[in-house]
Amino acid sequence: MSLYGKYRPETFPEVIGQDLITSALSNAIDNSRISQAYLFSGPRGCGKTSCARILARCLNCAKGPTSRPCGECESCLELGRGGTGSLDVMEIDAASHNSVEDARNLRGQVQFSPVRDRYKIFILDEAHMISTQGFNALLKVVEEPPKNTVFIFATTAPEKVLATIRSRTVHYSFRLVEPGIMKKHLERVCDQEGVEAGSEVLDMVVRQGGGSVRDSLSVLEELINGREGDELDPERCRKILGLLPSDLVENYLEAVLKGEAAKAYGLGEKMGAFEPSAMMEALLESVREKLVEEFKRGGGGQETSKLLFVSESVKDYSSLFKLPLPQGLSLDLLTSKLLSSSFSPSPQPPLASGGAPEEAKRLPPSVSERPSGQPQKAEAEFKAKWERLVSSLPEEAKREMTAEKLPKVDFKQSQGGWAILLTFATPLDQHAFALRLDRAIPKIVSEAVRKEFGSGFSIQASKKAANGEAVTKVKDMSTSELARLSSQMLSESPMSVEEIAEKVEGKVVEG
Ligand SMILES: [Zn+2]
Repeated sequence: MSLYGKYRPETFPEVIGQDLITSALSNAIDNSRISQAYLFSGPRGCGKTSCARILARCLNCAKGPTSRPCGECESCLELGRGGTGSLDVMEIDAASHNSVEDARNLRGQVQFSPVRDRYKIFILDEAHMISTQGFNALLKVVEEPPKNTVFIFATTAPEKVLATIRSRTVHYSFRLVEPGIMKKHLERVCDQEGVEAGSEVLDMVVRQGGGSVRDSLSVLEELINGREGDELDPERCRKILGLLPSDLVENYLEAVLKGEAAKAYGLGEKMGAFEPSAMMEALLESVREKLVEEFKRGGGGQETSKLLFVSESVKDYSSLFKLPLPQGLSLDLLTSKLLSSSFSPSPQPPLASGGAPEEAKRLPPSVSERPSGQPQKAEAEFKAKWERLVSSLPEEAKREMTAEKLPKVDFKQSQGGWAILLTFATPLDQHAFALRLDRAIPKIVSEAVRKEFGSGFSIQASKKAANGEAVTKVKDMSTSELARLSSQMLSESPMSVEEIAEKVEGKVVEG
């Protein structure tokens, strides 16, 4: 006998995780409020059919109707675990008996009085499978059932049960069983089976069972059958269930977080041997554990943002695994994405009152070399760096950034980083910087800044030129202003209004 059959409840108190329903039914029976039609709906494997049988047992107990059937009378024995079933309780699987013919047969049977017991009870499992015509054929008997007849419809899809039938039933909707309750139940079953199962294994079964008692017990049964000795070993259980070994995921995650590429790709290859869904779940599970730990410890550091990045990326890349691609390919891409987290840390304001030395070591050189002394000293270092940067630029860019054209460069701390504020001599100089060289100069300079200063720095152009004139953004200029700008710039190198206007469509770094 399966574990599920062996531990199938035969009284309401034995039902797992449906306390509201079992106590409501018990109260109704004990107060003689017995309906002639019930509808039990809910996900599969969470106790609908079991409760229907228990209800039948309560109604037909020789000492009943009672919410606590005696367990000794003929009816109780027949309807208990391992019983033969009772002539007065008809269990019909509507999935295989859903024709109009079946419904008519049923209607015929309803006319007969109970053979021995108090009620004639019809349990219609998978009731949503009955066709509309079938329901119509049943409608009359459900509307005006002969005395002492009780219908119990059980279904995973109550909305598919004809509304006219539904409205004549007392409806109970069952729920998936909560993990904590399920775990305790599984623990008891293991105890009774003489099997040792640790918390880790029980959690695994609970997750795999997804809240269904039937599914959880069949997972547990699979593990018990595949065990060696009396103990359920977690790693062996993982193997049986096709789950990833815990250290594989742990090591992979550690490798991507530390940026150990060779190791990460190698472990990724091993993970490719598993079902994508099992792999993703294991990875996310592991990230979640780490994140919860991080946040409990205060969180918010580099590690936290890396972990958040990993979980986001796994989510973003999960669709890759649904495509008909070799899994190794998708995995390499995912691994590459995850590795990128260790190379691009979130920008940190360089002068934020000195982080811990260990933290500084983990940062890329450009940011960890940040000046930590007085602002003046920092300013001087920045200026030196800037000069070095400008001298390394291509001639065409340098030409627009001479001391004459760009007399003032300031370093200002702003939200989330640093701005390198460029004040040009005249608005025209600033526009030339933005537009010349196919508007590549700002990009070239930005790239050089990122290399020299780190990702927390960006360039910005001042809203006012050094000569005191306000600088109109090119994109805000009227056609005539653009024409004037064009003719001014023509004196240096040819460029038409159209050309300028075209460039305006692109992003120009100004103000
Ligand atoms: Zn009884």
